[in-house]
Amino acid sequence: MSDVTLLPSVNLFLARDHGHFINGTCSPSSTSAKIKVINPANGEAIAQVSEGSQADVDQAVLSAQAGFKIWSKTSPAARAAVLFKLAGLLEQNREELAQLETVQSGKIIQISRAFEVDQAAHFLRYYAGWATKINGETITPSLPSFAGERYTAFTLREPVGVVVGIVPWNFSTMIAIWKLASALTTGCSIIIKPSEFTPLTILRIAELATQAGLPAGALNVITGSGLSGKALIDHPGTNKVSFTGSVPTGIAVGKSAMEAKLTRATLELGGKNSVGFLRDVDLDKAADGIIEAGFLHSGQICAAAERFFAHRSQIEPLMEKLAQRLATLKIGSPLDESTQFGPVTNKQHQQKLEAFFKTARNESNTIVFGGNAIDGPGCYVEPTIILANSAKDTLLNEETFGPIATFLPYDTDEELLHLMNDTPYGLSASIWTNDLSKALRLVPEIEAGTVWVNMHTMLDPAVPFGGVKASGIGREFGAAFIDDYTELKSVMIRY
Ligand code: NAD
Repeated sequence: MSDVTLLPSVNLFLARDHGHFINGTCSPSSTSAKIKVINPANGEAIAQVSEGSQADVDQAVLSAQAGFKIWSKTSPAARAAVLFKLAGLLEQNREELAQLETVQSGKIIQISRAFEVDQAAHFLRYYAGWATKINGETITPSLPSFAGERYTAFTLREPVGVVVGIVPWNFSTMIAIWKLASALTTGCSIIIKPSEFTPLTILRIAELATQAGLPAGALNVITGSGLSGKALIDHPGTNKVSFTGSVPTGIAVGKSAMEAKLTRATLELGGKNSVGFLRDVDLDKAADGIIEAGFLHSGQICAAAERFFAHRSQIEPLMEKLAQRLATLKIGSPLDESTQFGPVTNKQHQQKLEAFFKTARNESNTIVFGGNAIDGPGCYVEPTIILANSAKDTLLNEETFGPIATFLPYDTDEELLHLMNDTPYGLSASIWTNDLSKALRLVPEIEAGTVWVNMHTMLDPAVPFGGVKASGIGREFGAAFIDDYTELKSVMIRY
């Protein structure tokens, strides 16, 4: 097979002189500072975007404040209609958005189409449905009256205002959609700051949002590095930050938000997610499960598993089966529809993964499969299996965010639980067994925001998602996000 041909609209978009997206339109930056966007499949610069300056940030906040005035007064049904229309436009522009995503992130084209566009449209429709269902409640006050007077009370859910949505590079389209959908369905306006590595699709989606009928200023995009993200959080005109990214940056963002003006912050952070295979597990299903849990999008998924615990009697045959499967994965160009395993998203990340391979060797871990970067201009690394010596080894403790499955054997169920929970993080975990009764007894003991049984990494818009421990604060999806994007106002009446 060969690469799909880039659509003319993709080539035209890449060649544009990109500014920010402010006040419903493309807006040139106030500075000439530019950031190159590099295709990680071949190391070539494919586009350049602007570094957001303080003046750009000021302009975006003014725009978002004006947008908020209009959008928060728009009826819930009209808000839903715009979001439903935008979901349709994502699908109509599916191939263009998927190709843009693939050339900026190295994600294989099939994943860009199925997840970054199709799934994003599903999520957007789910959120749009909430616009007409967000309500306060009536309350009967509890204290006795003094002289026969009566009281009644109710609550109003009011949008928090201007939201800053800060997005990482791994699912730059879908995560941007989660953020703009949460903000817009609750009546907030939003300024998205995409990752400096993957800023392109959201610039195009902002144009589609205008086409869908979103009023100017309700959605803005400021491109640039972390500095522009910080300037947005620090700005007195922003009211909430919704951040997705790494733990160290999340802590910095949380501090900035508190120091700025107690800005509300939700933090969806990284992790070091565990998989526990119980002794009765079918090894073929387990090996397939590890591909799903650890190697999709080259392991660059926040919920992906990196720590795998198998019973001592099964660990060798399991790693052998996994190695056989990894050996058949077709590694290649992400634009080739037959490719199953593409590059990682940027050079720095490839170098970070190489450093992890070195650490594993220095700590005398066994490299069962892979363990090298792949030579060439692209950012490729081999899918890798590592057998650690102890639970203290680096590869079992630090998030690699790459295609590296690190294994450790256990002997008893108590030891398995201890190993799974022995991490400062708690985003997701899975257990694999035919014994559902045992699985249901273990679930409450596992310290993670999401626990899957006989599956891993599947996110559904109806099911809340977020981390415990150092993996974050707050939840996305379900009804859980509503608390984070609205203020509860209490009203009491005497009669
Ligand atoms: P990152 O933390 O390096 O960057 C994330 C975003 O924050 C980028 O847009 C960046 O420009 C911005 N940023 C950097 N410094 C900032 C600052 N001081 N103030 C404001 N913004 C700043 O993360 P990344 O490398 O882009 O993404 C990978 C990480 O994201 C992994 O750790 C992964 O686990 C995590 N992640 C978590 C989830 C989740 O839902 N929990 C989802 C996807 C990714």
